[in-house]
Amino acid sequence: MKDELEAICKEVRNCTRCALAGTRTQALCGEGDPSSGVMLVAQAPGEREDEEGRMFVGPSGGVLNEVFARIGVNRGKIYMTNLVKCMLPGYRRPRQQEIAECSRYLEKEMEVVNPKLLVPLGFYAIRYLFNRFGLHLPPKAEFSSLYGRVFHVQGRVILPLRHPTAALYNKSVLPQMVDTYRGIKTFLEGGL
Ligand code: SF4
Repeated sequence: MKDELEAICKEVRNCTRCALAGTRTQALCGEGDPSSGVMLVAQAPGEREDEEGRMFVGPSGGVLNEVFARIGVNRGKIYMTNLVKCMLPGYRRPRQQEIAECSRYLEKEMEVVNPKLLVPLGFYAIRYLFNRFGLHLPPKAEFSSLYGRVFHVQGRVILPLRHPTAALYNKSVLPQMVDTYRGIKTFLEGGL
């Protein structure tokens, strides 16, 4: 598995399939433990991640670390990756064409890692995986009703969660985030 992920990583680092190659410092590979059975799918690297070449090292990473500390999950013990592997300039939304080009890498990672639990974070990652696995997406106004719910599909479990960035803009969502993120801990303990 390690060699296959390294091969994907090499492709990602050299990729110029979309315009984001022109504005990134570096494309980010997945990281963490691919044998955990858990794959977290975030949206895209931020500025700090782009500089340092690691996932969740900026302000969103601070939120993620806090949530994980509260639920007792070690981020090194799960596998984490992004839907879009290069930074989005000015924190803009990913474009459909960028997702279409870049999702080939997520697909390869899913094939190699074969996670039992998929955890998409935020709208774009959730939309991608719901479409991918034929799950019904609610209207945007009801989207937050998905957070923390458990979906069983094609032998996998999908646990959509709010992206940590949300708590940077609105601290009041943090307690609910902690509650819904507990699903990861429950899975790791064999109970989801
Ligand atoms: S975002 Fe994805 S498809 Fe676009 S250049 Fe980066 S790695 Fe390639």
